[in-house]
Amino acid sequence: MGYGPHRFFWKAIWKLDTLPKIRVFTWRVGHEILPTNCKIATIRQGFDKGCPRCGAETETLLHALKDCPTSRAVLSIRGWSRIFISKNYDRCIDWLEDLMRVLDKRAMDDLMTTLWNCWNNRNNYILRGKKEEAKQIWERASNLNREFRICNMMNEPLLSQNIVVKRWKKPPKDVIKINFDATVGENSTGYGMVIRDEDGFVLGGGGGFKEGRRSVEQAECMAFEESIKLACSLNIKDHVLFETDHVGLVNRLNNSANDITTIGARIKDCTAAFNFFKSASLIWTERSCNTVAHLVCKKMYSEAKNCLFGMDYPSEIHDAVISDVS
Ligand SMILES: [Zn+2]
Repeated sequence: MGYGPHRFFWKAIWKLDTLPKIRVFTWRVGHEILPTNCKIATIRQGFDKGCPRCGAETETLLHALKDCPTSRAVLSIRGWSRIFISKNYDRCIDWLEDLMRVLDKRAMDDLMTTLWNCWNNRNNYILRGKKEEAKQIWERASNLNREFRICNMMNEPLLSQNIVVKRWKKPPKDVIKINFDATVGENSTGYGMVIRDEDGFVLGGGGGFKEGRRSVEQAECMAFEESIKLACSLNIKDHVLFETDHVGLVNRLNNSANDITTIGARIKDCTAAFNFFKSASLIWTERSCNTVAHLVCKKMYSEAKNCLFGMDYPSEIHDAVISDVS
């Protein structure tokens, strides 16, 4: 969990304009979880780890997608051969990450679609003994992308209606924003939070469910405390902006010096915990700017569960995450 050395890669695939199944494929490539013979041989004893197509000794994922002659032929049709052959890698993710630094987004969309077709070609070959010509694979890949683009263009007007609803704002450069929210029921509370960087990229989040009666203010305070805890546990030490749509909490924090209530004491503890960060503050925003946190919160509340997530957040919030940044 958290963001590791391949943050660049995960962030780039999140921005890919491909069909969802190709984004999923890219995610699997990044995690090396596709069933190559090499992979199967580590699980099943006596399984031949060689490449079924060219007879190479070991069929790693890199081999299947990049080095196997058929794949290489497909890639070279697009004139990518020079970048492809020049360097050896241990893992697919290193190779793709390198490429992402040279190719623009559109070229990357095409590349991933092509690789996806290479992978399908490999499977067809194994399962059905069907051998496709390199040119055919490439043509299929480019048709797929073209269709998707046309479909996307037709959808565009639907998104650009003239309704002005205030939306979540990206934090300034080098600042992490943490939105949180709480839902209060008769005898239970749900809370949710989401951590995003200056691009609106989700670094993590989560939420929970707690039994017991609470006021809205107590619940919001709890969500605030949990957000600080989560940021600390992810070791986010940057400049941090906490954001809530509960104005009472922000007011209390600003007047906490004179506040002798229990909540006042808890808020003082929160501001003391701010020392963990380079800088931190709590700001207020409108409800329509806090939708992702609200959705996480609602999910926790309705499912009565606790969960933390990293960059692969629950699918329910995906649309809201995207609409916040578009
Ligand atoms: Zn091969």
